[in-house]
Amino acid sequence: MIFRQFLDFTSHTLTYLLGDGQAGEAVLIDPVGSHVATYRQVLDELGLRLVQAVDTHTHADHITALGPLREQTGCTTVMGVRSGASCVSRRVREGDRISFGDLSLQVLETPGHTPESLSLVLETPWRAVFTGDVLLIRGSGRTDFQNGDAGESWDSVTGKLFSLDGGTVVYPGHDYKGWSCSTIDEERRCNPRFAGRTRADYIALMGALNLPRPELMDVAVPANLGCGLTAG
Ligand code: FE
Repeated sequence: MIFRQFLDFTSHTLTYLLGDGQAGEAVLIDPVGSHVATYRQVLDELGLRLVQAVDTHTHADHITALGPLREQTGCTTVMGVRSGASCVSRRVREGDRISFGDLSLQVLETPGHTPESLSLVLETPWRAVFTGDVLLIRGSGRTDFQNGDAGESWDSVTGKLFSLDGGTVVYPGHDYKGWSCSTIDEERRCNPRFAGRTRADYIALMGALNLPRPELMDVAVPANLGCGLTAG
């Protein structure tokens, strides 16, 4: 399997390219609009055709590349069944598979950061989970806007993600400290939002974060509901 992680320095978004080199097919997870040329260059250089581009959720801090990628490569654009985006060509639900060549990602619906948030599980060639913003390394995505729900976030993380095999590598949708990955076991033991806490503790903690509004929220959310095409 071909695997690349890209960092957007502005929003600290982590984007993932997964490819089956034999079949020449690839998927992108959470691609950022300003990096379309980079993704296309890497796809070309590695001899891969982009078959699907997935947003784990409607992003508030960057404009998605889904629309431009669909226009330029003819890929299928994918989001969760609860997404309100108008231009998504495929809506996936729990248990669906997103395939590229002989490999695939399995969809877990993990609401909490937003209602439509997905996590994507890779079983081979190694166990990994792409968590979007629901579970971050030693953190979790905020639940105070875009219909976020701290109770749902707790249930998604502790009920679904923490029940994956402990060795599963965690690849989050953001990291602000430059950490590139973790594991489920590590997050169960060391994530301060969850370790040793109750659901009620977590809801109280998330309700008291008092985070500023994302700078791009009023631009990015409407743009992303049109897959990044309305922002020009
Ligand atoms: Fe987010």
